[in-house]
Amino acid sequence: MFDGLIGHDVTAARLRDAVRDGSLAPAVLFEGPPAAGKLTAALELGRALNCAAGAPPDCRCASCGNHRALQDPHVLTVGGRDFAAEIAAASAALSRSPAPASRELFVRSVRALTRRFDDLLWTGSEPRLRRLRSRVADLEDRLERSRTGGAADAAAELARAANLEAVSVNAVRAIETWARVATPGVKVIIVEVRRWLPEPASNALLRTVEEPPRRTHFIFTAPSSQALIPTLLSRLARYRFGDRSRADQRRVIAEVFGDPQAAATTIADYLAAAGAAVASAGASDDLRRAAARFCDAALAGGADAAAVPTADRDAGFAFLQACSERLRALLRSPARAAEVQRIERWYRFLDDAAWRVKTMNMSPEATIADIARRMAAGGDPPMRRW
Ligand SMILES: [Zn+2]
Repeated sequence: MFDGLIGHDVTAARLRDAVRDGSLAPAVLFEGPPAAGKLTAALELGRALNCAAGAPPDCRCASCGNHRALQDPHVLTVGGRDFAAEIAAASAALSRSPAPASRELFVRSVRALTRRFDDLLWTGSEPRLRRLRSRVADLEDRLERSRTGGAADAAAELARAANLEAVSVNAVRAIETWARVATPGVKVIIVEVRRWLPEPASNALLRTVEEPPRRTHFIFTAPSSQALIPTLLSRLARYRFGDRSRADQRRVIAEVFGDPQAAATTIADYLAAAGAAVASAGASDDLRRAAARFCDAALAGGADAAAVPTADRDAGFAFLQACSERLRALLRSPARAAEVQRIERWYRFLDDAAWRVKTMNMSPEATIADIARRMAAGGDPPMRRW
């Protein structure tokens, strides 16, 4: 078990020992930057806990087969991640080579998203689920037919519409009820936290984690311990997934994504390149132009909140994303140190604004007006909550 986890030997050994001697804590935190392999490790832990044969790498048992295809009914995953970039990279891998490993990578990257639409997780939010259902079915259909073209765009749209990062209290309650029903398997609940786990969900989860049902394990994944409220954090056994060495990252790109010729030397760069095409396809030319105008004016000291599209929250969010994309592009181009500082400052403000619009239901216009005021007053960007 954990053989496929590249570059985390110490953490993998700790997990392996804990599974073998039955000492694994009922709730754990996998802590580390994006693309460090936390979800891969969490899924592997789910496989290891459910395989009667000790989870060898190529185990042929039915349980491991289900786990490999992310179809095991004992594993539930909530939260958000950058699905589109990973699906884009997996689509490219499958287009380069039809090998079973590429197909598995594609299946797993898409199911990492579609499994978050299990009926159980949407208990109490059925009307919303019904509206998203056709998009989920479309992605599953792409899987059946190995249709890689457009899969990443479809995933990006679905993830945007579903707002998975704002883990709902309804979902947590449904998980708790489900976890307390005895079944033959070991239940594993993976909670992915991209930035900050909203407080209502945190408190609801805390109750369950304090008195974990038998044969149930919670695995939280987060960029840092600050992504969780302290009361919840104090209940978790922590496992560190630090940045992997450059050599190990190259190995992941070569072996997992099957792309030994890639120019990127880090997984984050590799995924960013794969996801860039998706992100820019998501925004219309008009929106990109409006975002560029807004950013240029903001950097020159005159942010205009009236430039933000007000048609609906999705349009506002897309605008904020287009702004972030514009600033990222500026940061990549040569600029003076003072200029870089200003761009980074705005980037942090806008990133926070996008986060608030997405997960806290705030209006984009009011959020922009607020940060324009804080910028003008010389205030500091919000603390990074991840
Ligand atoms: Zn097995």
